[in-house]
Amino acid sequence: MPTRDECLQADRQDPLAPLKHQFELPAGLLYLDGNSLGVLPKAAAARSAQVVTQEWGQGLIRSWNTAGWFDLPARLGDKLAPLIGAGPGQVVVTDTTSLNLFKALAAALRIQQQAAPQRRVILSERDNFPTDLYMIQGMMDLLQQGYEMRLIDDGLPLEQALDDSVAVLALSHVNYRTGAMYDMAAVTARAHAQGALAIWDLAHAAGAVPVDLAGAEADFAVGCTYKYLNAGPGAPAYIWVAPRHADDFRQPLSGWWGHQRPFDMAVAYEPAGGIRRYLCGTQPIVSLAMVECGLDISLAANMNDVRKKSLRMGDLFIDLLESRCASHPLTLITPREHARRGSHISIRHPHGYEVMQALIARGVIGDYREPEVLRFGLTPLYLGYTDIWDAVDTLKTVLDTEDWKNPEFAQRGAVT
Ligand SMILES: *Cc1c(COP(=O)(O)O)cnc(C)c1O
Repeated sequence: MPTRDECLQADRQDPLAPLKHQFELPAGLLYLDGNSLGVLPKAAAARSAQVVTQEWGQGLIRSWNTAGWFDLPARLGDKLAPLIGAGPGQVVVTDTTSLNLFKALAAALRIQQQAAPQRRVILSERDNFPTDLYMIQGMMDLLQQGYEMRLIDDGLPLEQALDDSVAVLALSHVNYRTGAMYDMAAVTARAHAQGALAIWDLAHAAGAVPVDLAGAEADFAVGCTYKYLNAGPGAPAYIWVAPRHADDFRQPLSGWWGHQRPFDMAVAYEPAGGIRRYLCGTQPIVSLAMVECGLDISLAANMNDVRKKSLRMGDLFIDLLESRCASHPLTLITPREHARRGSHISIRHPHGYEVMQALIARGVIGDYREPEVLRFGLTPLYLGYTDIWDAVDTLKTVLDTEDWKNPEFAQRGAVT
């Protein structure tokens, strides 16, 4: 079992350690929830003041041109691209992950309707993030053409579920609850071998694990910026389309921002030739501008260093949990195998909700997901090995003292 001194030593040798000074981290708090809402980049305060007081306050309407507001979704998309193995002109930052998934799904189904109209199955996973499943259900409701949602689960593994009736496979690269990661290249190849298109949700992957969309030959991808990319609450998400599908990309949310010449004010919709056709309406510029502050820090880090540190922090977490908290009813649900693990650790406890509330009261913030799951996000940009040691130490205290039995910890807020 590693000692706290060994963790301090490891932090001193960590090449990513200086990056934490680029974030505003509240004193006395251990934040292991960057997989849900990332922390505030220090640069964001000055940047938001500039956008609000200068660009909006002084520039007013002129800023659409003079401050680069109009081009911002594509410019940020180009910046984000290297983090997900995409090229320039292939990504836009816009809308929410849910909306972008809807667009990608519509485009993929449209391609399949022409190529293979008999395919009527949208394949996903029972344990996928619920909004992804809800958007698929909404799409099927709209189409009303005998589409079927099929879900991979314990009784129906991927190999069995993926047959020649599948039009589209829509999965999360890293599972939000368990932290399990798919081999994107292998699964995409399997989908293609069956004639299906693959849409990947990168919400828990981008900025957390190396992603290579081009290398995996994926078809579409979506993801959010407010988790590991530290862009701020509700910051716009992104969408990527493989260049081979770019011209076929037709999406039903055909708003004026996706028009070839929006300011012609034409009656008929004509999609923009390039990446702008993925946009719908006027963009939330203040929130969009914040995306760049988080991205700049992720781009300053070497993604292989980030991955190495994340896995080492995960191993440390598991090791400490099993050596120091062994007498408590905790079950690790995150895969141990590096190749199958994202960047958070999930454990079950019969009173997971109360245990998490007691932890938060002691200044260790993780989060809780049904059923019984405690989640701890490992964010190499601003957490160190000693932080992990201290977090598990606090968990041990909460469990040993049975602190969590205090009735106040059983009360639930709207957001867990
Ligand atoms: C967080 C998350 C989302 C969030 O979608 P929003 O539309 O931004 O609320 C979607 N999918 C997955 C897999 C997520 O983890």
